[in-house]
Parts: sequence; C-alpha cells; structure tokens
Amino acid sequence: MTNAPRLLDKLVSLTGIQDIELMEFSLLKTLTEFINPQELSILKLDKRGKPCYQLHLRQEKYEILSENFSLSDEIFTALDIVQGTKQSFRTRLDSGSMLVAWHVMQTKSQNVFLVAVTSRELTKLNSHMIRGPLQIYRNFYDVLIEAQRDQLTGLANRKTFDEVIQKIYNEPPPCTDPVAVERRTLVTRDNASYWLGMVDVDNFKRINDTWGHLYGDEVLLLLAQLMQHHFRESDFLFRFGGEEFVIIVRTDTEQHARRACERFREAVENHSFPQVGQITVSTGVVRMEPTIFTATLLDRADQALYHAKKKGRNRVEFFDDLLREGLVSITEIAAGEIELF
Ligand code: GH3
Ligand code: MG
Ligand code: MG
Repeated sequence: MTNAPRLLDKLVSLTGIQDIELMEFSLLKTLTEFINPQELSILKLDKRGKPCYQLHLRQEKYEILSENFSLSDEIFTALDIVQGTKQSFRTRLDSGSMLVAWHVMQTKSQNVFLVAVTSRELTKLNSHMIRGPLQIYRNFYDVLIEAQRDQLTGLANRKTFDEVIQKIYNEPPPCTDPVAVERRTLVTRDNASYWLGMVDVDNFKRINDTWGHLYGDEVLLLLAQLMQHHFRESDFLFRFGGEEFVIIVRTDTEQHARRACERFREAVENHSFPQVGQITVSTGVVRMEPTIFTATLLDRADQALYHAKKKGRNRVEFFDDLLREGLVSITEIAAGEIELF
C-alpha cells in the first residue's frame, strides 16, 4: 500500500489526457512501473483480424507501427485465445520469458489487446494492478471518442483536426504537459506525403430548400459513410462544419492522391440519395508540407475549392495546377493571423 499515493497520481494523470494515443502511451508507462516488463504493447487488430496498430515499448523506447507489420505466431495464438474473455493468457517463450496477453476491448472496427513480455511470472497482485488501469482505459476511451466526433456524421470534428496535424508532423503539442512533451520522441512514422482536400457539397442550399433540413442532414450522414467506404483506414476524415469536409490522404505519389479524390467524387456522383437523388461535391487539394502553416494550407485548399466551383462544380482541383495556370498565387498566412473557421 506504500505505492498507493503514486498509483493515485498515475490514475489522475491517465484521466487528465484528452487524446487516445497519449492515453495509451500513459497507460503503458503506468503499467511498466507496476510490472517492469521487458516489452509491453497495445495491439489493435482490424475486423479481419489483421494487425493495424501497435504502440510498443521496449527499454524505455516507444514505437508506433501502423501499417504492414507482422506479429509472431505465439502472439497471434495468444490473442486468439484471449479474444472475448476477461482472463489473461500466459505462455512461456523459447527464450524463457513469459508472454502475457489481455483482451482490452472490442470497438466498432478493432479489437484492442495488451501484450507483455516479462522475465518472470506475474504475481496475483501484478495482475490486479493491471486490471484497474485497463478498466479506466476502457471507460475513458468512450469518453474521448465521443469528444472527438462530429455528432451528426460520426467523423472526426474540427477540434481533432489540429491534434491530427500535430501527429502527422510530429510537432510538440502546444502545452507543457510532461506526457505530451514526451510524445515528441514517440512518433516514428514513415516519409509518405500527405494531401489535404477540402470537400464541399455542391448547391447544398437547394437540397435543404427543396427537401428540408432533415433530408439535408441525411445526405450529410450518407456522404460521410461514402467517405469512410472510399478512403483508406490510414486517411483522416473530418467534418469541418456545415456541408464542408476535410480529408487528409496519405499516398506516395500525387497521382495516387488525385485518383483517391476522383474516386470519391465519382462515387458521390453515382450514388442515389433517398428522395434527393443525385448530388455532387467539389474538392480543392493541396500538398501538405511541414514548413507551411496549417492556416496557409487550409487557405490554399479553400482557394482550389473556389476554383473547382467556378469551373463548374463536381470537380477536383489541385492548388499546384492552378498555380501553373496562373489562377492562384502564393501567399503565406502567419500562425494565428486569421481564424478561418
Ligand atoms: P456551393 O455549390 O457554392 O457550395 O453552394 P451551396 O448551396 O452548397 O453553398 P452555401 O454555402 O451557399 O450553402 C450551404 C448551405 O448548407 C447553407 C445551409 O443551409 C446548409 N447547411 C449548413 N450546415 C448544415 C447542416 O448541418 N444541416 C443541413 N441540413 N444543412 C446545413
Ligand atoms: Mg460551403
Ligand atoms: Mg456547398
């Protein structure tokens, strides 16, 4: 019980976090102090059972894997056994270490697990010390997800946008929270390029005026579902407000970004919305660069969107193309200079 104040401090810091990735980081840190493992991971499998995310801690080094990584057969077997149970599963590895796995929870699209490699068997007290923070994680996960979602469409909201941008660029978050600052060294992502697209429904006012707001809302909801269906898990989708959406597409070439945006544009055009029938969207796209302020990027995407509308709607326009055409020019917006939304 001498650990009680420290434990309380840890739990308080866990529940003060506003971001799921940070909460997971803090959870691993807390559990590491309790059980001193050789390795500790939060692992997520998608609906098909494929590994889609791993936050991994070994010798005080954190690593995030989010694509194309594999797991050992021992881990797969352990996850298979614990899935859907509240019990942990433990097995001895060839190295002599213990592998212990817990099924943390099942979300709409993922199964979340905790996996530890320890030098010796966990005691009953150890197991108990793990169950508490895991339950806090479960409870808090729902709260955080709700706070990050747009109520109508379930997409990420505008507030989450800034957090995602920080994660992409691995910028330090704008606060001095020790956990947040530590995250600076945590993210090790690859060098893929990112494209920011601003999507706006064409003539949406007419849809509202003709069919009423309820049908308008239904269109927005269905549009969000089409988005989720047509973009990849690794892309980010936001409802920015009203009938405006922002997508962040991760690809290795401009051609792929173009194809992704065009595919979505066509999907909307070819979809029949109940009662309303056909609708279209226009999109303005800009390549994201860490040296350019987010406000400038949003402004450029907005300019590209403006030209997509001007050129007849139901189009995707890239800022760089418009630059070559002489239709837009480069101006920088300083951070905090304007409030765009
Ligand atoms: P454009 O092609 O130029 O984008 O034309 P538009 O009619 O879509 O553009 P405008 O910005 O003039 O109108 C947007 C309309 O979207 C205004 C408002 O009535 C409607 N709107 C904004 N938010 C919501 C919402 O949450 N639900 C519904 N049903 N309508 C919304
Ligand atoms: Mg609009
Ligand atoms: Mg519109």
